[in-house]
Amino acid sequence: MRTSILRSWLNGWIDKISMRDFLIRGVAGRAKLRFALCRSTNAVFQAVVYHDADPVAAELIGDAVTGAALSSVLLGEGEKLSIRWEYPGAAGITLADVNFAGDIRCCPGNPHLLGEVKSRADLFGVGDGNIAVTRSSDGRILNSGQSAAPLADLSLDLAFFYSVSDQVESGIKSIVELSPDPVKPVKTAGGLLIQALPDCDLEEFEEVRRRLESAELEEVLSRDVLGVDVWVREVLEALLKADFGDSEISYSYGADIGLRCSCSEEKMASALKLLSPEELEAAWSGRDELTVQCQFCGRRYTLRRR
Ligand SMILES: [Zn+2]
Repeated sequence: MRTSILRSWLNGWIDKISMRDFLIRGVAGRAKLRFALCRSTNAVFQAVVYHDADPVAAELIGDAVTGAALSSVLLGEGEKLSIRWEYPGAAGITLADVNFAGDIRCCPGNPHLLGEVKSRADLFGVGDGNIAVTRSSDGRILNSGQSAAPLADLSLDLAFFYSVSDQVESGIKSIVELSPDPVKPVKTAGGLLIQALPDCDLEEFEEVRRRLESAELEEVLSRDVLGVDVWVREVLEALLKADFGDSEISYSYGADIGLRCSCSEEKMASALKLLSPEELEAAWSGRDELTVQCQFCGRRYTLRRR
């Protein structure tokens, strides 16, 4: 009897830990880099289900949501980051944003890619894509930048943007494991962001960045998280290798990440103001009411003409 109670408590506890999304932010002192590490399974799952995405689109959504989650550690209080990837292939435009509180939203360009795409070249197209990142606070743009997206991978191109445009050497690895189960199409999602601190040896950083693509790190990132402390240690060991033993590692929990949309009637009404008078007239088309739908969460708003 006691054993079964203990087992059910333990199973509940394991479920709780492995199901929960979380974000860790930290510094590896000796390697002179900072990192963010997240488990984003639930957020990716919700975005995939909401957009009814097929497996090809689900991988893009996974990279976008995880990239946004990791990027929340770069924000100051009250700030929001909007990321827009555009590729010449079938992937088209993917949008994701995240704020300081960890609220993430994602909108894929095309959630149904399976029939259209036979190769990576079909998906990302021939030639560079483009990535644009805007940081804002209370609807006011603080800064925005863009760069080429030459790596045909949402995570690698986001890291490329931070390296080139923000001039902070960066690397991102995200993992998305899908499952054929239609009830739970995303088995695991998560990722790791690393950034060089100002006095980092860039040759050493390059070596660490190469390890982001190693099979060992991928395996550790995909592992079931039974204890956060142990997982962080395993990830950093796989990343830092020989340097790990005498590295000074410190970390703490970052924002409470999750898929949460901040749309409102007021924001929808102010988005209408961006249209030209002709576009606005066409949208109203003589009626007094206009129904608009949020592209991120699907919520509908009925706006009235004033
Ligand atoms: Zn919304």
